[in-house]
Amino acid sequence: MKRSGFDYYAPESISEAVVLLSDLGENTFVMAGGTDLLIRKRHGMIFPDAVVALKKIKGLDRISVGPKKGLVIGATALLADVAAHKGIQNKYPAISDAAKNTANVQIRNMGTVVGNLCNASPSADNAPALLALGATLSIAGPQGDRTLALEDFFLGPGLTALKPAEIVIAATVPPPPANSGAAYVHLSARGKVDCSAVCIGAHIELQGRKVNNARLFVGACAPIPMRTPRAEKTVMRKVFTEKLAEKAGAAASEEALPITDVRATQDYRNSMVAVMTKRALLLAHKRARS
Ligand SMILES: Cc1cc2nc3c(=O)[nH]c(=O)nc-3n(C[C@H](O)[C@H](O)[C@H](O)COP(=O)(O)OP(=O)(O)OC[C@H]3O[C@@H](n4cnc5c(N)ncnc54)[C@H](O)[C@@H]3O)c2cc1C
Repeated sequence: MKRSGFDYYAPESISEAVVLLSDLGENTFVMAGGTDLLIRKRHGMIFPDAVVALKKIKGLDRISVGPKKGLVIGATALLADVAAHKGIQNKYPAISDAAKNTANVQIRNMGTVVGNLCNASPSADNAPALLALGATLSIAGPQGDRTLALEDFFLGPGLTALKPAEIVIAATVPPPPANSGAAYVHLSARGKVDCSAVCIGAHIELQGRKVNNARLFVGACAPIPMRTPRAEKTVMRKVFTEKLAEKAGAAASEEALPITDVRATQDYRNSMVAVMTKRALLLAHKRARS
């Protein structure tokens, strides 16, 4: 028989949390803010035997911005705190924009950026910007600690590369290279109360007027947030112009694999990938120039 309740654990260290997850077995869930997890439970999508909450682990909510390590966002750092962090706004505006545009004020004050990634929704608002900026995840587990590129983390809707009893401890973004800029733009049908129908993360590096490096990711248009390499190739080693950004948008639209669902039709998403990719590139370019 399925249980209506669950056992609740609130460990005070990462090692304690990992031991609990190993000992309690498969049907145990990690919880950060619970804004996804508890809704899935309420809707009868999951029936956890136990929940291991991370909020009592000291220091796990830390956010730091430094010249060597770059940006580190701890596993329980709230979306609201990431959105409001001055260092992130200055050095990583694409990341504060993504956090600021996730859900509503109540959810941002409960939910976390790392939880948004671990939930692995194809439309996760924080994924495209972090992917574009080359983020990595620090992971603790029964076999020890490891680091994984965020690009290798998403395996499918709700599916990640986490092994049993592993916990993501933090997301780290390297220091932005010189003459680089990044942007996050999104579109949702019902403004702030709905998840994105299309979301884009763009990062470019300039050498003079030419684009020397580009990373472009599209969210909500494939089973996982996807990279658009043909769009990247379109801008590489070329002088950046609005026309070039438009061509890259068209290429991204050809690469994206959207479906029709409650948020938007496939055709609309395809058109909007082109528009939003262009917009993201223009903003990333403006930031790289300034
Ligand atoms: C009304 C509403 C509106 C929303 N709008 C948006 C939106 O616009 N855009 C958007 O992207 N999302 C939206 N969401 C989804 C949700 O709020 C976010 O995904 C949130 O960031 C999840 O963070 P959390 O800390 O609450 O995660 P939790 O609910 O605690 O966890 C989510 C999942 O990740 C796992 N997990 C969490 N942390 C870790 C960790 N450190 N290590 C391993 N596994 C972990 C959990 O086991 C669970 O499976 C919305 C939700 C609601 C209820």
